[in-house]
Amino acid sequence: MTSTRSEIVETPSEYRDRLTRWLEANLAGRTSRVLDEAEKREIAQQMYDEGLTALTWPEQYGGRGLPGDFQTVYNEAVAQYDWAMLATTVTIGICGATLSDFGTEEQKLRHLPRMLRGDERWTQLLSEPGAGSDLASVSTRAVREGDRWIVNGQKVWTSSAVESHYALALVRTDPTAPARRGVSMMIVDLSAPGVEIRPLREMTGRAAFNEVFLNDVSLAGDSILGSPGEGWPILLRMLTHERLALSAGTTGRRMDLEAFPRLLELAKARGNVNSGEVRGLLSEVFIQQKLLDLLGSRMRTASEFGLSMGPVGSIGKVGAAKAARLVAEAGIAIGGNDTQAWAADDETSAELARTLLHFPSAGIAGGTTEIQKNTIAERLLGLPREPLPQSPTTPPVK
Ligand SMILES: Cc1cc2nc3c(=O)[nH]c(=O)nc-3n(C[C@H](O)[C@H](O)[C@H](O)COP(=O)(O)OP(=O)(O)OC[C@H]3O[C@@H](n4cnc5c(N)ncnc54)[C@H](O)[C@@H]3O)c2cc1C
Repeated sequence: MTSTRSEIVETPSEYRDRLTRWLEANLAGRTSRVLDEAEKREIAQQMYDEGLTALTWPEQYGGRGLPGDFQTVYNEAVAQYDWAMLATTVTIGICGATLSDFGTEEQKLRHLPRMLRGDERWTQLLSEPGAGSDLASVSTRAVREGDRWIVNGQKVWTSSAVESHYALALVRTDPTAPARRGVSMMIVDLSAPGVEIRPLREMTGRAAFNEVFLNDVSLAGDSILGSPGEGWPILLRMLTHERLALSAGTTGRRMDLEAFPRLLELAKARGNVNSGEVRGLLSEVFIQQKLLDLLGSRMRTASEFGLSMGPVGSIGKVGAAKAARLVAEAGIAIGGNDTQAWAADDETSAELARTLLHFPSAGIAGGTTEIQKNTIAERLLGLPREPLPQSPTTPPVK
């Protein structure tokens, strides 16, 4: 089936009809909660084989080489299918985009087609117990031994590590160099001996992220992205891809942006659509959704023309965190007491409660809201840079 992808000839409007028909026939009523990992992967592979995804990527890396308006059609059509965003955001929107920017031809040919088809899932090994916002403090070490790299250290909060095949990891390759010059970005095969993944349970009850221990993990000599010591600029580009993908989206749109119609229907069904509190929150959700939609369409258009919006992604990231909070609050106002204690078959109230417990993560994952505000202040508004962290022995900045 893959070979027929390049033979498909269609206009964006013919593509829209074909995609909409496929989604309705195969995905109506199926959400990420009812699909298991194997089913999600199978759907991604089927869509790829039928030429419905990986539209704008170059043909030599498994894409269809189409213009950006096809991607816009895709983004709009899949917005209501929440699963569509989840796996592709990190694998393609963040890791694939970074690999495409910095990978060797061999690395790109080896991984990009498999990422685009859903055969390989990727994650990010950045945060450590002693390095989160301040990633220059990473202490995971990679040491060159003969033609191999030996990696030791611990990463944490790694989303979907259990389901992933590879990761991009920030590691220290030169402990004698200044912090930001001594780090490298590595491709880590998560099935290699010495990689131990331990799920962490969140307050929602789910275990969406993990601790990852790297104990004498031996990786091939060509596992570095770019050159040793070039990890910092690669990380900065990766974080830009992340902010764009996690905010208004370059791979599709986030489900919470589609929350307004669902919340309105729920308020009508629960008979509190005339409550002042509910109406106020619904208006705020609507306004926030529209602002993010507009920002998202601006960012997608820029990315379709190969332009980088750089720190503008931080505005989208702050807005997406605010939207997540408003959606959670509106859900609780509409759901009322049933969201505190619900009947066993009341899945809607259970979901509203889970949304309340989950929303704070939107202001932490991919860089906290405080860090985004620093970026906006310094890089968009031109305000003075904040002082670098002081060691206990250095005199305070006056
Ligand atoms: C759902 C979720 C998924 C995640 N997935 C991944 C993943 O897949 N891979 C990965 O590597 N990481 C992942 N993370 C980790 C995430 O990137 C970090 O949690 C985040 O960058 C913050 O780092 P930290 O937790 O160490 O907090 P810290 O950096 O210790 O920050 C603690 C508090 O101090 C504030 N703060 C810190 N520095 C400053 C400053 N200079 N100015 C103002 N305030 C500041 C922060 O805003 C925060 O409120 C995930 C996190 C979550 C919640």
